[in-house]
Amino acid sequence: MAGMSNKPLVMVVDDDNSTRMMATEFLSQANFDVVDFSSGIDALKQLPQISPDLILLDVEMPEIDGFAVCRRLRKCPGFENTPVLMLTGLNSSDSVELAFEAGATDFATKPINWSLLCHRLRYLLRAWQSAQDLKQSQRSLAVAQRMAQMGNWHLSLTDNSMYWSEQLYAILDVQPTDQPPSLAGFFDCICINDRERLQTWLNDIVAAKNTTYTIDFCLSNSASGERYVHQLVEQETDAEGRVVSLNGVVQDLTEKRRTERRLEQLAHYDNVTELPNRTLFQDRLTSSISEASVGDTALAVLYVDIDDFKLVNDSLGHASGDIMLNEIARRISNCVDDTNASVARMGADEFTILLPNLDGCHQAIDLATRLLRELAQPYSAMDEQIFSSSSVGIALFPDHGGCAESLLTSADIAMSEAKRAGKNTYRLHDDKLHADTQKRFRIESLMRHGLERDEFQVYFQPQIDLTTGRLYSAEALLRWVSPELGFVSPGDFISIAEDNGFIVPLGQWVLETACKQAVAWHEANFPITQVAVNISVLQFVREDFTATVARILAETGLAPEKLELEITESLLASDTVSAVDTLRKLKAIGVQLSIDDFGTGYSSLSQLKHFPIDRLKLDQSFVQEVTTSPADAAITRAVIAMSNSMDLKLLAEGVETMEQLDFLKRCDCDEIQGFLISKPAPANVLATEIDAIEALLNSLFDAQGGLLQAA
Ligand code: C2E
Ligand code: MG
Ligand code: MG
Repeated sequence: MAGMSNKPLVMVVDDDNSTRMMATEFLSQANFDVVDFSSGIDALKQLPQISPDLILLDVEMPEIDGFAVCRRLRKCPGFENTPVLMLTGLNSSDSVELAFEAGATDFATKPINWSLLCHRLRYLLRAWQSAQDLKQSQRSLAVAQRMAQMGNWHLSLTDNSMYWSEQLYAILDVQPTDQPPSLAGFFDCICINDRERLQTWLNDIVAAKNTTYTIDFCLSNSASGERYVHQLVEQETDAEGRVVSLNGVVQDLTEKRRTERRLEQLAHYDNVTELPNRTLFQDRLTSSISEASVGDTALAVLYVDIDDFKLVNDSLGHASGDIMLNEIARRISNCVDDTNASVARMGADEFTILLPNLDGCHQAIDLATRLLRELAQPYSAMDEQIFSSSSVGIALFPDHGGCAESLLTSADIAMSEAKRAGKNTYRLHDDKLHADTQKRFRIESLMRHGLERDEFQVYFQPQIDLTTGRLYSAEALLRWVSPELGFVSPGDFISIAEDNGFIVPLGQWVLETACKQAVAWHEANFPITQVAVNISVLQFVREDFTATVARILAETGLAPEKLELEITESLLASDTVSAVDTLRKLKAIGVQLSIDDFGTGYSSLSQLKHFPIDRLKLDQSFVQEVTTSPADAAITRAVIAMSNSMDLKLLAEGVETMEQLDFLKRCDCDEIQGFLISKPAPANVLATEIDAIEALLNSLFDAQGGLLQAA
């Protein structure tokens, strides 16, 4: 109420003084606040400030009459519905008619019975207040329905008349002005496929058969496409228990469904390729396994890994990587023609395929072959041509695993095996593979502690200068004796350390140990004062490699030319520009550089002239056969001749016999290393053997380095 007190405020507008006085008198006594005006113009002016709860308006006034005041007042915002009671002097039905036309709520005729009028005003106010409350609650309901995307309807079964709420109109996407509510109109909005079901359901409710009172269905007439709704219905019954009407609530679940779908998409699909993800694949695999167990059929899991995908990401960027992944996903899906099969992306560059209902492994192998061929076709991303390949591992149920987890692991192991076999190939899982992998896992986990627990050791194998017949250097060779596994050959653990990156700290430790040893030998006047250390590609490509070498030299105090780094040919073939760069930096420090296992890689001698290399180490496989295979003899001779002409030293590895030594000496080979002179040994053992080794050399070579025939 507008008055400062809690009393209702009445505005009295009358030109007659005595009426105003009487009004004030009676109304105040009847507990109203009163403000009075003698002219309609003044009253209208003050209306907004005064904001009365009720207006008492005289019809006959000099300037403008009560009808005009009432009409104008109704146009003032906020006063459209304020109760207005008109006081007519004329007891004619005409003026009553006019009063209502002007917007009056009620009228009273003069002379006025004031006490009766006061009751009338009270009643008017109460009625107005309930109308206000109703409006307010309707407004709140409409807001609540809009917010809840929920509309309601009422259906009277006596005359089939219907009521639709504002929000129901919105959900049905129908304009209230276009269509009066009706059951037929309601059904028109419903998707054709759902109509019959809904009709039966409604009939059951009307017949009060035991049924559910909720139903979900689809609306089809919305401009924004199909909408999913949930409907709840309640019956109203008469005194005899007959159903006379129904009340329904319709909730629009379209957005909720969309969100649910989106969540489902996020939880079960990969967002780069839109393929199922690991979770969904595992679910599908699990149910396929149960079906296969019941039906006694086989199924296969193929694990596909893109070879060297990291290179694509690193060199061309993730955007190109994503384009390529999408293309890979497309090619894999195209290769899989079985509609019961599933393709998934497990993460990064790994994809899996589930082939159900097999009678053996040939379908899986056929598919793997097709995949390898398709995935090896060039890719184009952002104007770049990318060449790639893949490795595929196959595991079968029930042979290689009884559950999703173990089948996937088996397929993954087979895939790793395909990688080790040189990539771009497939492997079928077998039990030996499994054992090998487990051994690898054990090596991998134990190796990491090996360094802290002092299980590694560096052995040294002497190298001989054939021009003098004297010792000059030793190659550092890593050894590992694990308390759990015993002696592990470097052939077994170094490749693992290269796969998991452990070779970096391990290799650095070898480098430090070897440098310290060389300094110790120098200080002890030992005949060997130089060391050669094997360097893994992983160490070499690190940005800080040159700095690490320089630091170790500085810390140990070894003269740079007393250190030789052995790198492999593959390093030169892979990324020529930065390799040359690093080699130059290392050369600038002053260390010597050699190519290990020369002849087993792809580099040609002509390519080598671009690299600042000091020495080639001819691979022992050639040396082994020099005296028996004319081809190996020819190659060895040619390599020696060419390296001499290119001013490179040539060291022959793996020299075991006098015949081999003799052959190499005659071909002008510069240096050798091998069991003939000494096996690799720990420095302390070498110290005890050194006299014997020197004696052996003295018996083999004369003072000028010539080979003594006697030997
Ligand atoms: P590599 O660098 O070519 O080393 C020469 C290998 O030939 C050594 O095997 C050595 O013991 C063996 N050998 C030497 N003379 C003879 C011989 O007369 N006959 C035969 N049959 N073999 C001979 P090892 O020590 O088993 O090392 C194998 C490979 O492991 C090495 O080949 C090298 O590539 C790698 N390696 C060893 N230590 C390290 C290291 O500290 N770091 C890195 N990155 N690789 C290492
Ligand atoms: Mg070596
Ligand atoms: Mg070698």
